[in-house]
Amino acid sequence: MSEISALPRIRELDAYVPGLSIAEIQQKYGLSQVIKMASNENPLGASPLAQEAARRHAPSLFRYPQGGNPRLVRALADLHAVDSRRVAVGNGSDEIIDLLIRMLAEPGKHSLACFEPCFSIYPIQGRIAGVKVRRCPLEKDFSFDFDALLRLVDQSTRLVFVTTPDNPSGYCPPRGAVADLAGRLADIAPDCLLVVDEAYMDFAEDEAGASLLASGALPDNAVFLRTFSKSWGLAGLRLGYGVLPPALAEYFWRARLPFSVNILAEEAGLAALADTAFRRATLDAVRRGRATLRDGLTALGCTVWPSAANFLLFRLPPDAGSAKGCFEALLRRGIIIRPLNSYNLPEHLRVSVGDAGENAAFLAAMREILAAPEARRA
Ligand SMILES: *Cc1c(COP(=O)(O)O)cnc(C)c1O
Repeated sequence: MSEISALPRIRELDAYVPGLSIAEIQQKYGLSQVIKMASNENPLGASPLAQEAARRHAPSLFRYPQGGNPRLVRALADLHAVDSRRVAVGNGSDEIIDLLIRMLAEPGKHSLACFEPCFSIYPIQGRIAGVKVRRCPLEKDFSFDFDALLRLVDQSTRLVFVTTPDNPSGYCPPRGAVADLAGRLADIAPDCLLVVDEAYMDFAEDEAGASLLASGALPDNAVFLRTFSKSWGLAGLRLGYGVLPPALAEYFWRARLPFSVNILAEEAGLAALADTAFRRATLDAVRRGRATLRDGLTALGCTVWPSAANFLLFRLPPDAGSAKGCFEALLRRGIIIRPLNSYNLPEHLRVSVGDAGENAAFLAAMREILAAPEARRA
C-alpha cells in the first residue's frame, strides 16, 4: 500500500458544489426537456458572433495561444478605459482569485477576510492555499457591515473579498461605500488587497452609478474582477479578467500558467465584445426577466430579496414546506434551480433569470408546487 496522500488541509476540504447539469437530470428523471436556471448563465446563450469566431478558429486548435493574450487585453482596456498594463485575463475569474491568493498570502502565516455566506471560491481557494479564512456574517437583510469586515483585518491579513452585486443575494452596496472601504483598509493595513468581484455588475439597472470600476476612480489597493461567464455568455469557455494595480498585474503575468486562456476563449471573447446587439439583448432580457420573476414569486407569497444581478434569492411562504422539497419538486418537472446548503442557507433558494419561456415555466411550476401538498410532505 502506498503512503501517498494529500495534505491534511486538502483532505479536510469541502469542495465547490456546482449547479446540477441538464444531462444529469435528464437521465435521473427520464426527461427529454430540462431547463437550467441554476448557474447564472446567459439566458440567450452565446453570442452568434462568438460562436462564429469559435468555428472560424477551429483549424488553429493545434497551435498554442499567443503569450499574454495581448489583443484581448487591449480590447478590455478599451472597454473599461483603463491602461492595458492593469488588465489581467485568466481561465475564468476563478483562476485570478486563486492566483491572487497564492501571490499575496503565505501558507500558515497569512489570512484573508470575506463575508459569510459569500461566493464559495474565496474560502475554498484560501484553504487550499493554506491561508487562514476569517469570516463575518452578513446583515439579516444580506447587506454588508463593512465595519465588521474591517474588524477581521490585522497585520496577517493580505486579502479582503467583496462581491458586488453579491452572490447569492443580489445585494449591491453604493459604490461610495466600497470606495470608503478601500480607503479605510489602506489606512489600517497598507499591504492588504481589496478584491472587488463585479461578476454581475453589468446587470445592475445603473451600472455607471453602482460600479467603482466604471467610475474610473480606482483605489491603489483594489482589484476589480469581471467575467465572460455571465453577461457575455461564455461560461463553458472559461474566461475572466481583472483590472489590477499595474505592479500587481505585472506579477500576475509572471505567476499565471502561460496558456490558461485558450485560443477559442480568446477569439470568442473578442467577438463577444464586438457583438453589441447581442449584449443589448442580453441586458434587456435579464432586466425584464428579473422583474417578471420577482413579481411572480412575490404574488405566490414568496419573500424575494432585491437583486441587481441575473438571479433572485427567495424563500417560500410560511407553511409551504421545505426549500429542499420545492427544489426536488422542480427537478421532477425538469427545472433546475440552486439550493443553498453549501452557502449555509438551507431554507433559501436561488433562481437564475431565464428567457421568457423558461421564466414562465418556472413560475407555472412554482404555482403548482405551492398549491399541492407534495412540497409540504417533503
Ligand atoms: C460566477 C461568478 C464568478 C465567475 O467565475 P468564472 O470563473 O469567471 O466563471 C466570479 N465571482 C462570482 C461571485 C460569481 O458568482
